[in-house]
Amino acid sequence: MSVIVRFAPSPTGKLHVGNVRTALLNYLFVREQGGSFILRIDDTDLERSTNAYEDGIKTDLEWLGINWDATFNQSHRFKLYEDAANKLKAEGLLYPCYETSEELDRQRKLQRVQGKPPVYNRGALELTADAVKSLEDEGRKPHWRFKLSGKSVTWLDVVRGEQTIDTSSISDPVLIRADGSFLYTLPSVVDDIDARITHVIRGEDHVTNSGAQIEIFKALSDHVPNFAHTPLLVGSDGKGLSKRLGSLSMDQLREQGFEPLAVTSLLSKIGTSDPIEARPSLSVLVSEFSFSKIGRAPARFDENELSLINARLLHDTDFADVKDRIEALGVTDGEALWNLVRSNVEKLSDIAGWSTVINAPMPGQIANEDAEFCQIAAECLPNTLTADTWSIWTKSLKESTGRKGKTLFLPLRLALTGRSQGPQMGGVLVLLGAERAKARLMGQTG
Ligand code: GLU
Repeated sequence: MSVIVRFAPSPTGKLHVGNVRTALLNYLFVREQGGSFILRIDDTDLERSTNAYEDGIKTDLEWLGINWDATFNQSHRFKLYEDAANKLKAEGLLYPCYETSEELDRQRKLQRVQGKPPVYNRGALELTADAVKSLEDEGRKPHWRFKLSGKSVTWLDVVRGEQTIDTSSISDPVLIRADGSFLYTLPSVVDDIDARITHVIRGEDHVTNSGAQIEIFKALSDHVPNFAHTPLLVGSDGKGLSKRLGSLSMDQLREQGFEPLAVTSLLSKIGTSDPIEARPSLSVLVSEFSFSKIGRAPARFDENELSLINARLLHDTDFADVKDRIEALGVTDGEALWNLVRSNVEKLSDIAGWSTVINAPMPGQIANEDAEFCQIAAECLPNTLTADTWSIWTKSLKESTGRKGKTLFLPLRLALTGRSQGPQMGGVLVLLGAERAKARLMGQTG
């Protein structure tokens, strides 16, 4: 049996780290299994769904390298959902209800006061034909609920092991609103049957939902997929991310200069038994994926870890792989510079700052007490610089001035780069060239 999975975002907002993790787990599993990955756009909510969000979702997935084998929109498939609804109605499994939301609220409050669980009381099933007629004469339109069996639903969850949902403890789910629009529950099942989805992989906030959906699967077909419910993402403080998701959207992370592989490395590894570290490619992440590595504890998303992974990836990136992006930053002839600074950048764009340090005229930054030392350093700097110059030059400066350690090296670094930290100075010196280096050491603009 070939594996078929789907990632089913609603185009009512941007993709953020939470839903990208779900997309990624689907992707890693299906690529590891050699199956197919469907991108399903859950746009049954015609008012809140937009083309712009849909395009954004596709752009983000492409940027991450999460490619799909097929895609479709639920909004093109209402006929199928109507057919399924009619089938359920004919079997008495989808029944009309007339309560307003205020009436339902009141009902729930009363149940709470009585110490009962706030489960829908199925009042609509008791209505006589006359009662229905008078409600409809009043202008009320029905919403439609699926009649749960009241029994327990059990499945072997790929992540959580055996799961049981007692359907008598949950309300019959509303599948169709009073305005005739479909909620998520039924279209999702219809599409999962139609596409022969073998594994529904999603967040554990859907566990209860799965109990109800499995009954709908069984009512409509003999196809019930496997389920894998993964623990939710939390921040490094252990708290939910919901309030911060806006700033953790893919377009924000991209704008902040994070590499897609940093995002996928981190999101693949958190909450698993693997070490959290940069991985060289998505295919390596695929080969390392296994559901058995996913624990039951929430996965902690830590932006500091993302920065560290990002830096680590860049340290290992060859110039050829970033040449175009470096040129797009306005840095030309950047190969030697990249090789020099790549272990000092956190974001690729940091190279632009180092290019300015090397290529743009600037005055040397020299403290008064270091002026004489820097003058001597300028005078004894050879005119032809090689990779060895720095060590030979600083050794002789050490001997002639008696300076050593930080008092020897830091003034030179500051005078030459204006920064107290950075790439190894031997390479910096060569790229600066003797003329510019001497000018800066003498406190002049060079
Ligand atoms: N559109 C649904 C959501 O974003 C999909 C859930 C599912 O994977 O079934 O929550």
